[in-house]
Amino acid sequence: MELKQVLGKIEESREDMVRIMSEMIRIPAIAPVNGGTGEGKRADMLAGYLEGYDSIIRDDVRDDLDPSVIRPNILAKKNGKGKGTVWIVAHTDTVPVGDLKDWETDPFEPVVKDGRIYGRGTEDNGQAVLSAMFASKFIPKGMLSKRSIGVALVADEETTSKLGIDYLIKKGHFSEDDVFIVPDWGSPEGDLIEVAEKNLIWLQFNITGKSTHGSTPDEGINAFRVGAEVLAELMAEFKKQFPKEDPMFIPKASTFEPTKSPGTVMNVNTIPGNFEFSMDIRLIPAYSQDDVVAVAERVAKAHEERTGAKISISEIQRHTSGKISSTEGMVFDALMDSIESVVGKRPRPVGVGGATCANFFRKEGYDAYVWQKGGGTLHGPNEYVVIDNMVTDAKVFATLFYKLCV
Ligand SMILES: [Zn+2]
Repeated sequence: MELKQVLGKIEESREDMVRIMSEMIRIPAIAPVNGGTGEGKRADMLAGYLEGYDSIIRDDVRDDLDPSVIRPNILAKKNGKGKGTVWIVAHTDTVPVGDLKDWETDPFEPVVKDGRIYGRGTEDNGQAVLSAMFASKFIPKGMLSKRSIGVALVADEETTSKLGIDYLIKKGHFSEDDVFIVPDWGSPEGDLIEVAEKNLIWLQFNITGKSTHGSTPDEGINAFRVGAEVLAELMAEFKKQFPKEDPMFIPKASTFEPTKSPGTVMNVNTIPGNFEFSMDIRLIPAYSQDDVVAVAERVAKAHEERTGAKISISEIQRHTSGKISSTEGMVFDALMDSIESVVGKRPRPVGVGGATCANFFRKEGYDAYVWQKGGGTLHGPNEYVVIDNMVTDAKVFATLFYKLCV
């Protein structure tokens, strides 16, 4: 079968894709830690639509919080004669719905309107589930002379990936000859491929001073004042110590943002004895989190000595990015060409500040590319997928399979 015919069949599958997406959205797939019952029922339903593969492996895991809940992983393959598999990796779980009052329609009752399907999990990551299924569906098995085709429908992406991608990698389901496409982030024009991530660290600063009456500040230590001074110096110092930019990244520079700060005192005329703030810090790969911690500790110590306040720093989160996925060679060129031939625009490789599950592959030394067309309503109320984008993605992935597998 020619690629042209496959693309034609995908185009004709629009109604089927909408129907399967709608059926999927009616089955909630929220992690137990978020009050849900997991992806089990949804995975069973989707497995029923996976036909014509050489092998379908179910590697289910018991939830660590609630062992009565099964977290399902499905790996479907059409075998090629060569080494390696081109995987499209999609996750079946969703985040909770949030405040129902913010939804204009029932998040679990799909509504098709204006070329979109509304519902929780439509864009994140239903779009990828459907595009992966239909990209691989019409390419007959037995005709792959190069790499194998793989569709991975994984659990647990929205919390830790421990029972999904992380588990599957550790179990040895993948190899260094494999290529990973993770359609879980994109741009409306489909012109960006995410190949790298920043190093992330969240730091929390606790300042302990001494509370006193507002009229006698000298008798206490104003923790809020000390905190503000520490923060001002941190922001200036971070900027000075970590000035490099990396043009591959959006944004180009490292970012050092104060984010969370709980209240201090209930009344205006009390000098606060405690103050807390946190910073969200994302570094281009030229810098490491340890360098940032060292600067933070130095600044904190200087202010402790100057004021007599006690300043402690705790690390809330740390994510180290894996290697940058290759932007040279025939695999990357094939991806660029596939996107350009369907979307009509040559994409550009970028790095982002957000953490994606592609990083689990990159940390193993594998090349993983995050691409899809669209993006933007995920995790919010009134989430929707643009039906055209779902079809376009499937055509791009089918084209890629033809270049790398057939
Ligand atoms: Zn996602």
